[in-house]
Amino acid sequence: MRVLIITDVHGNEVALEAVLADAKGQYDVVWCLGDLVGYGPNPNECVERVQELPSLICLVGNHDKAALGDIDLSTFNVDARTSTEWSQSVLNDKNREYLAGLTGSVITDGFTLAHGSPREPVWEYILDSYTALANFDYFNTRTCFVGHTHTPIIYHMFESACQAYMPSYDEELYLTEGRFIVNPGSVGQPRDGNPDAAYGILDTERNVFIHKRVPYDIAETQKRMREHELPMRLVLRLELGW
Ligand code: ZN
Repeated sequence: MRVLIITDVHGNEVALEAVLADAKGQYDVVWCLGDLVGYGPNPNECVERVQELPSLICLVGNHDKAALGDIDLSTFNVDARTSTEWSQSVLNDKNREYLAGLTGSVITDGFTLAHGSPREPVWEYILDSYTALANFDYFNTRTCFVGHTHTPIIYHMFESACQAYMPSYDEELYLTEGRFIVNPGSVGQPRDGNPDAAYGILDTERNVFIHKRVPYDIAETQKRMREHELPMRLVLRLELGW
């Protein structure tokens, strides 16, 4: 089975469509690791578009929960709060209902999926090998896929040591020796200094994962954000990838 893995779309429909076009013909099913909404200008369109994808498994992220009004926005910075309040105001009832029915982690086909981490599925950021190492105790499969940090990375645990690796794009990563926590990076708001949309393709039979990047029309997303008067800092960060 070939799986398209996407996460942190964040209402960026233009980036999502670029990823789907780039990945066309390379997948049979789709796993989405959460944060469909928040920050970007097209939350409803993104929630609706992913539901059209084949055999979709979709998790909930912290921004999805925030858009549903499920969490206290005082933990968000002022720009995130402003964009969340805007998302809350535009999200339609059907899409709210869809997001409200999602969970933060799942085990499927021998893989663990979580938005943030297996230990704290919605909230925890895995930003270093130390945090990754602790999280290997919280799932039983060989590999766990996470999102949330918006940074593509591979944590490899081998003989009780954990090392972090930056991905080599378009190259096959064999998920066979040891255990792995893999982040494909963010579709709609990359934060690794590369503004291109990020995603991944997994071959479950061969146990091979490929990190992918694809450029998209950032100016178009920015134009839509300006039309909705979303915070300028959030508009500008897209072209710099932070
Ligand atoms: Zn996110």
